[in-house]
Amino acid sequence: METKQKGVTTEGKLKDIISHAKEYGFVFPSSEIYDGLAAVYDYGPFGVELKNNLKSLWWKTMTQVEENIVGIDAAIFMQPLTWKASGHVDGFNDPMIDNKDSQKRYRVDHLVEGHAANLEEAGNKNAADSLVEKMNAFLAKDDFTGLKELIISEKISCPVSGTVNWSDIRQFNLMFSTKIGSVAEEADVVYLRPETAQGIFVNFLNVQKTGRMKIPFGIAQIGKAFRNEIVARQFIFRMREFEQMEMQFFVRPGTELDWYQKWKDVRIKWHAALGLSSEKLKFHNHDKLAHYANAAVDIEYEFPFGFKEMEGIHSRTDFDLKAHQDLSGKKMQYFDSEINQNYVPYVVETSVGADRLFLAHLCSAFTQETTGEGETLKERTYLKFHPAIAPIKAAVFPLTKKDGLPEKAQEIVELLKYDFNVAYEEKDSIGKRYTRQDLIGTPFCIAVDHQTLEDNTVTIRHRDTATQERIHIDDLNTRIGYETSFRRIFEKLR
Ligand code: ATP
Repeated sequence: METKQKGVTTEGKLKDIISHAKEYGFVFPSSEIYDGLAAVYDYGPFGVELKNNLKSLWWKTMTQVEENIVGIDAAIFMQPLTWKASGHVDGFNDPMIDNKDSQKRYRVDHLVEGHAANLEEAGNKNAADSLVEKMNAFLAKDDFTGLKELIISEKISCPVSGTVNWSDIRQFNLMFSTKIGSVAEEADVVYLRPETAQGIFVNFLNVQKTGRMKIPFGIAQIGKAFRNEIVARQFIFRMREFEQMEMQFFVRPGTELDWYQKWKDVRIKWHAALGLSSEKLKFHNHDKLAHYANAAVDIEYEFPFGFKEMEGIHSRTDFDLKAHQDLSGKKMQYFDSEINQNYVPYVVETSVGADRLFLAHLCSAFTQETTGEGETLKERTYLKFHPAIAPIKAAVFPLTKKDGLPEKAQEIVELLKYDFNVAYEEKDSIGKRYTRQDLIGTPFCIAVDHQTLEDNTVTIRHRDTATQERIHIDDLNTRIGYETSFRRIFEKLR
């Protein structure tokens, strides 16, 4: 990104965004004092607020605004047979290749896509596209010999050793396992769930019966998932421990593709309503369908490293419920009184990564603006979050530390803090305080000055325009409440 150019650049390079996220308390590398742990990250004070706001918005959308969706919170550990039925024990594999010189292991699709990205960067987009197309064709047929030949013939080398001394391509299971019970006893292997969906499938009848749910209905869940990703790259885009927000929608067999279309439409609109630019959102149909799906699409966002999956929408058929029914011997059927029939429902799922959604919003919000020219050239960096998801909604500043202004400002904090996350700052010049709030994306800064003591008005400064207006203290709650409310987002969805 060109910071010296006049104008506004909303999408910074990933490395600028990563350092901003660390410096201003959004995301830290995990256990950093020990040099970190690859592909594991911690959320800092502002990061956790942003992430919680995104999760809460998703949760409200699903369980509060939609009428026929309820939530659950299933455990991370599940009876290991769950993963046998779902196909993860035998089939949760990605084709991998080892470089014999560096001993590094790569996911084949990542290695080839990395090479294609280099080709594209060098101005050879056609070659890049054709390479990815060939790879997808081999992947679709599980043709690992063809894939290896492609890697060799294209001279795709290991980024570490620089050689093309590759092993054969093999499958590698991505599930983490651990042992339950004391080690001295007969210990059983359990898995850290690689997706939250199975906690929903195994609870399908519990929820349906206790909630007296009628098909079509959905079950939503937010929770951690774990995958032993081999090549973990691109910051929080691909982590080993991450969070999913999944919703399984149970429908009458034969109607699933209509619901699939509906959810595609609903979900892409949701992302746009939250402030992600429509030009940076697109659908990507799966070339190769997973064993459980009869239709699948990704909603991709244009991250600084290109269009990549943020959410998956899958028509999962009755694969999972049937597999659990077969292995457990327990019926997973629903009696549909409208048509007087018992059946195993079909499922359409929407699955979005909370961390990828977070990254999309961080990238989209990261704005470096240059105004003026020559001597008056000024640069300003700020995070242009939708006010509803901003970590802090308003910051209250007394103009000076004396004359009763801090006390008045504290009264305003007291007035607002039960409804909004507010900050109070009195250190440094007011300009510096504005800058600090810009850097964490606070939409409103409220300044208390001498006039406030006389007429109970304050200035309210708007982050994106840096313009100010004077308003009465009594109006603050309603004003900030409206601007930061989730309602405004839902209004756009209607
Ligand atoms: P990818 O192809 O990028 O590995 P996937 O197709 O395996 O992703 P799904 O199994 O469909 O992903 O999971 C649903 C969502 O969970 C994804 O759209 C993504 O937002 C999120 N997700 C999956 N793997 C990771 C990860 N390693 N780190 C962060 N988020 C992830």
